[in-house]
Amino acid sequence: KKIKVALVGLGRYAEYMASQMKDCQYCEVAGLVSGSTEKLESWGKEYNVPTKNRYNYENFDKIKDNPDIDLVYIILPNAMHKDYAIRAAKAKKHVLVEKPMAVNAADCLEMIKVCKENNVQLAMGYRLHFEPYNMEMMRLGQKEVFGKVRVVEASLGYFAGQKGEWRLSKKLAGGGPLMNLGVYCVQAGRYITGEEPISVTAQFGPVLRKELFTEVEESITWQLEFPSGAVCTSTSTLAAGIDRLYASAENGRFELSPAISYGPFKGRTHEKEMDFPQINQQAAQMDAISKIILENKPMPDHISGLEGWKDMKVLDAIYKAAETGQKVRI
Ligand code: NAD
Repeated sequence: KKIKVALVGLGRYAEYMASQMKDCQYCEVAGLVSGSTEKLESWGKEYNVPTKNRYNYENFDKIKDNPDIDLVYIILPNAMHKDYAIRAAKAKKHVLVEKPMAVNAADCLEMIKVCKENNVQLAMGYRLHFEPYNMEMMRLGQKEVFGKVRVVEASLGYFAGQKGEWRLSKKLAGGGPLMNLGVYCVQAGRYITGEEPISVTAQFGPVLRKELFTEVEESITWQLEFPSGAVCTSTSTLAAGIDRLYASAENGRFELSPAISYGPFKGRTHEKEMDFPQINQQAAQMDAISKIILENKPMPDHISGLEGWKDMKVLDAIYKAAETGQKVRI
């Protein structure tokens, strides 16, 4: 049996995900949810999704009566994740949410609660947990292969931003590059050290394109402190390209660049180049989550709603630190 997945929001990432899911062994695209009848028609043809498994945002709740759908994958603008996750859970479907989980930690807790009440799984689309180069960074850091990690630098940026796009809207995105890109850097700080940050300082960067960045930041830099004394410094920006993880431990160093985008990934330790397969991380993520659901096992914490909530608590604190100029305890 395969898990039947309904995609909610047929934008760019949904399109990429659907194409990558053709390699999946344990799941398939079986449902589509969109506000566009044209997209429902063309995607329906491309992915063999019958009319009865196609929904718009108004009749989406009827998915409850559709035994053909097991899992609802929410790939909408960030601020819509919460409502659609809750609607999917109330329709008794398992829920998978794209990053960032929501736009604040309180919303994440509500999503976790409703999924629990409805006895459905809640997973995060954290693809890098299945990606070999990032998994190596986790291993080297958490297993203290070169001793304790003292310093991490984790940054992600693109030169991007177009008038009218939802990523520039506070209401739809919840914030700027911190929400969309910074969440990966916070993840990296946490998965390289294996610790939860205890405090943060943060600064908004200069606004270079004032006509575009009227609601959200164009750049932000922050510093996380961990209980062991490790620190992680990060920048997320839409003003320049950067895609890099660097860790310095007591007895060695390890790094990736590119580290977070879709690859090909490249990495090295102070001793040698890393050499791992470049995999289809989207298919790996979908198969792993689907297999857990098929086997009726609990979602492991690191890819569950709990993990999304932990990151969002840090993002909330980063914004608070940048807004107040004060160190914020998490
Ligand atoms: P996108 O703009 O390409 O797609 C968003 C979709 O939502 C569109 O089909 C749009 O029509 C639909 N939509 C519904 N209501 C909308 C509204 N009120 N305003 C705007 N759009 C609306 O965006 P995307 O890049 O596909 O991002 C979607 C989600 O996926 C985001 O949460 C993003 O963070 C996440 N994402 C994850 C990755 C990853 O690598 N894991 C990569 C890209 C995006």
